[in-house]
Amino acid sequence: MWVRRVWLPPLSVLRRALVSGALKVDELVAYVLGRIRETASFGATVEVWEDELEGARDRWEESVRRGGDISLLGLLLGVKDTICVRGKRVQAASRILEGYRSPFDATVVGRLRRAGAIPFARHNCDEFAMGSANEYSVYGVARNPYDEGRTPGGSSGGSGVAVALGQCVCALGSDTGGSVRLPAAWCGVYGFKPTYGVFSRYGLIAFASSFDQIGILANYPEDILLMMRWMVGEDPMDATSVSYSVGEEKQVDEEYGRGLSIGYFVDWLEHPDLESEVRAMVQGVLDRLKDLGCRIRPLRFPYLEYLVPTYQVLTTAEASSNLARYDGVRYGYRVELGHGSVVLRSVEEMMVQTRSLGFGSEVKRRILLGTFVLSAGFYEAYYDRAQRARALLREAIRKVFQEVQFVLAPVAPCVPFRIGAFAEHPTAMYLID
Ligand code: GLN
Repeated sequence: MWVRRVWLPPLSVLRRALVSGALKVDELVAYVLGRIRETASFGATVEVWEDELEGARDRWEESVRRGGDISLLGLLLGVKDTICVRGKRVQAASRILEGYRSPFDATVVGRLRRAGAIPFARHNCDEFAMGSANEYSVYGVARNPYDEGRTPGGSSGGSGVAVALGQCVCALGSDTGGSVRLPAAWCGVYGFKPTYGVFSRYGLIAFASSFDQIGILANYPEDILLMMRWMVGEDPMDATSVSYSVGEEKQVDEEYGRGLSIGYFVDWLEHPDLESEVRAMVQGVLDRLKDLGCRIRPLRFPYLEYLVPTYQVLTTAEASSNLARYDGVRYGYRVELGHGSVVLRSVEEMMVQTRSLGFGSEVKRRILLGTFVLSAGFYEAYYDRAQRARALLREAIRKVFQEVQFVLAPVAPCVPFRIGAFAEHPTAMYLID
C-alpha cells in the first residue's frame, strides 16, 4: 500500500525556519498547494482561498524582515466547512447553503488571524456535522489517508485527512459528539475538543448548540497548545463562552508521571463490542503510563447504554430547531417558481420544496426525529426525560473527576470501516458515538 501520510514540522520549527530564512514563505505555500493537488482524490480540501495566500505572503514576509514579530507565523490553517471565514463561502457540506458567503470571521478565526495565522482552505465534512464517516456531503466522500477504501471518520473528516496528508499545517474542526476526536483518531493525528465554553462558538454553524464546540486537529500536541493560547477567552458574542487560562506545557517524564492519576472504565474496556485491536492499543497506553509512574485507577461507569439515546434525543431536538432557519428566504439555496417540474403556488410550498431538495437524507432523518421528540404528545416521554438523563450523566462524570485527573478511553469501538458499510443501516452508525 502506498502510504501518503506526511508530517509537516511543528509550528515552532516552521516558524524558526521561516525567520532564519532556511524556509521561504513561498516554499511552504507551494508545498501545501502541491499536496492538495497530488492528493485531491482523498476529497479533503474543497476550496483554496488564493487571496488569503497572497495576504500571507505579504504579511509573513514583512514579519520575517522584522525578525518574526508574529506568533503564528507559518500557520496555514484549514477550516471545516461549518466555520465562518469573512467573505468566504461556507455551506456545512449542504446543498441548502449553496452560494452563501459569511459576512464575518468566527471569533476563533479572528483571534488566530490576529496572531498571524492564515485561514486559506475549506475542508469537507458531513452535512451539518451529522455523521461519523464524512459520507453525507454534497462534495462526496473523504477517504482515509492510510487506506482510501476506508472512511477517515467524521464529521470533520476532511480536516483529519488534510492534516495527515500535509494539505495544511493545522485545522479547525467542530465536535458535537466526537466529530473532531473520531477523524483525528482514524487519520492518525491529534484531535482536541475542549470543555464546552472554552472556545467561543460565534461563527460556528449550529448543529446542537448545547453540545457544539470548535476543536483543533494537528500533528503535534504542542501545536494545539500554541493555537489554544490564542483561541480561548470570553467572547461577548457567545454568552456560553467562559474565561479560561491555558497552563504550561509539561513533559510526561517519570517525575511528573508520579503525580498523575489516570482512570479507565473497566466496563468499556471489557465490552464485547470493543474490537480487540482497539482494546490492545488502549491497554498498551495504560501500561506505558504505568511505567511512567502514573497511578492507574480502574473505574465503573454503569451508564454506557444511556449515552447514545440521550445524545440522539437531545441533539436531534436542538438540530430540528436550529435548522428551521434554512427556509429558502434568508440563506443560500432556493427552489424558484417553475423549477423543473415543480410548480410553486405559495411561499410555503417554496419552503417545503427548498427544504426537501436542499437537505440530505441524514439531516432530514434528524429533523424528523427532533421534531417528534419535541412534539406536544411526546415531549415528556422523550425530551424531558433525556434532559434528566443528561443531568444524571453529568453528575456521574463530575464524580469521576473527583477521583482522577484524567480518563483514558478509546475514541471509537472499532477501526475505520469500509466506505459505504452502513449504507443499508444508517442508524446503526450512531452506536459508534
Ligand atoms: N457522529 C456524531 C453524530 O453523527 C458526530 C456529531 C458531531 O460531533 N458533530 O451525531
